[in-house]
Amino acid sequence: MNISKGKIGAACVLAGLSYSVIPTVIKRGKNCLQFYRRKRHINKQNPKEKKIYLTFDDGPGYYTEEILEILKRYDVKATFFMVSDFAKKYPEIVRRVQREGHAVGMHSRRHKNPMFESPLRSYRDLQQGYMDMQGLGAPVKMFRPPWGIVNMSVLFWQKQHGLTMHLWNVMTEDWRGDETAERIADKLMRRVKPGSIICLHDGRGKNNAPLRTAMALEIAIPKLEAQGYRFVCLSKEG
Ligand SMILES: [Zn+2]
Repeated sequence: MNISKGKIGAACVLAGLSYSVIPTVIKRGKNCLQFYRRKRHINKQNPKEKKIYLTFDDGPGYYTEEILEILKRYDVKATFFMVSDFAKKYPEIVRRVQREGHAVGMHSRRHKNPMFESPLRSYRDLQQGYMDMQGLGAPVKMFRPPWGIVNMSVLFWQKQHGLTMHLWNVMTEDWRGDETAERIADKLMRRVKPGSIICLHDGRGKNNAPLRTAMALEIAIPKLEAQGYRFVCLSKEG
């Protein structure tokens, strides 16, 4: 049988698209729909209630406690999607996050991009991360994939464990090395709407980025509260 190189190439592209790109596009589309439904629900129930969800990815890290101090000062509860390798490095921070009433979710074990990971590697990474979090006394019911990218193996693993996946609606590029606290705060003020899930970072990032995230929160939290916004934790139910 004579199969041309072109056909093999096309089959590979199609396999790649079906493995990660298409499932990711579908997930993100559903996430947008959920946001509009949540917004409509909040509006119907109580138009004055301006619930928002603060979430942190990529920690725990060197600056997580800085962020926890600010959240404590303003009595704000948040959700931390942890990388389990970092959680193992800072178990006392994991305990502090729980003790102070925040929610804990998982953000994989090693923060690898699911688009470029084989099904087996993806599955093993998540499974190990899940077990690591259990071992730390922080069993998870919520999950956010690295970069918000999924593949078929990630979806299978998530379903198998009955976890809720939470993406986000507001991103402020706070991981960038050249971003300032003022600009991050400004983006928060412009982009946040009732029902928004805000994705910030308490770990990784360039040039001590989480420190600027902490400073931005110091600016934005009182302003958002003054506008009537109320910060709540994400829950398994979403
Ligand atoms: Zn991440």
